[in-house]
Amino acid sequence: KSFQLMADLIKLEVFVAPHQAIEPEIAEKLCEMHGFVFEREKREKGGGVHKEKKKVKEPKAVEHEPEEKLEYRAPIITFMGHVDHGKTSLLDYVRKSRVTKGEAGGITQHIGAYHVDHHGHPISFIDTPGHSIFTEMRARGADVTDIVVLVIAADDGIMPQTKEAIEHAKKSEKTIIVAINKCDMPGADPMRVKTQLMEHGLQPVDFGGETECVEVSAVTGQGMEDLLELMALQAEVLELKANPRANARAAVIEASVQPGKGPTATVIVRAGTLKTGMPFICGPYAGKVKSMFNDLGEPVKEAGPAIPVEVIGFAELPHVGDELVQMKTEKASKKLSEERLQAKRNDRLQRPKMSRMEDLMSMV
Ligand code: GDP
Ligand code: MG
Repeated sequence: KSFQLMADLIKLEVFVAPHQAIEPEIAEKLCEMHGFVFEREKREKGGGVHKEKKKVKEPKAVEHEPEEKLEYRAPIITFMGHVDHGKTSLLDYVRKSRVTKGEAGGITQHIGAYHVDHHGHPISFIDTPGHSIFTEMRARGADVTDIVVLVIAADDGIMPQTKEAIEHAKKSEKTIIVAINKCDMPGADPMRVKTQLMEHGLQPVDFGGETECVEVSAVTGQGMEDLLELMALQAEVLELKANPRANARAAVIEASVQPGKGPTATVIVRAGTLKTGMPFICGPYAGKVKSMFNDLGEPVKEAGPAIPVEVIGFAELPHVGDELVQMKTEKASKKLSEERLQAKRNDRLQRPKMSRMEDLMSMV
């Protein structure tokens, strides 16, 4: 009955006369109040009316892969620790290249991700400039890290960012390996670092605890073999698997606009295999893999689970922590993009109205 609808509308702060038109968003709420599902119809050019097409199916989550389709994948290891304690240098040593020297002032400008083979054990690494990225990814459920290597300079000991890293690693229940770095320095005191670790709830194996600590030097290479062995061993314990033939999914760990390339992102594949030409959705934006580059800057056509690659072909700059998900067709990815963008707009439209509703309620 119209008087009933008018009364309902007043509750929504909409005041109308009996034959007045209302906005679709309002109609949707009215329908909801009475247990109906609101459907939009589009007017075609000829004046006819047709129902809007069915919604695009959201791709299914990684976790639902059947066990028999899973294959072993490389561990994804993140280096964390206080600035200047040697994260980049250690990674660099592992890669046998010299990224540190190329960096402006020796400071990590962006995160990098690398993939190496250690005596037949593939390992992927992420170098973090700070912890914001880690927090961000965890908040979005896109945290790809399996093992945290906590880097502590033996001459400096536990510092504020080391404490933060310990907190993050503990909260997300990651396996932690401690790399006590700069053991070549005259002031190096690994014992002091281990004692400090105890104070922060990490019991070194030497002291009867469970935290593996390795004394290393990124300069002399001391202890590096042991560190790599330990990573491979811990990875084995974790039994990390993914289905390389699943619908491809990858986490964005870095995004920027590159001159001549447009919006690009470094992603780490979580499941399936990314391929050039593949249409995808990333956050609310559609895209298509135009080209991909590995950690050495070489073009690649495919990237399987745990492999980091730079992807070109985003319609817009994605966010760190966004998930790139393979779509069947470009059409489907564009449609899903429209839907997600529309949902975002609706969200923004509804928020101020809701707060007015709350004001109204508080007056009652
Ligand atoms: P990050 O900020 O943790 O990535 O630290 P960097 O890798 O940029 O290293 C900071 C500085 O410490 C650089 O000048 C490195 O050359 C130096 N450094 C790193 N590891 C070692 C090490 O094992 N021994 C010595 N003596 N210096 C190191
Ligand atoms: Mg660095």
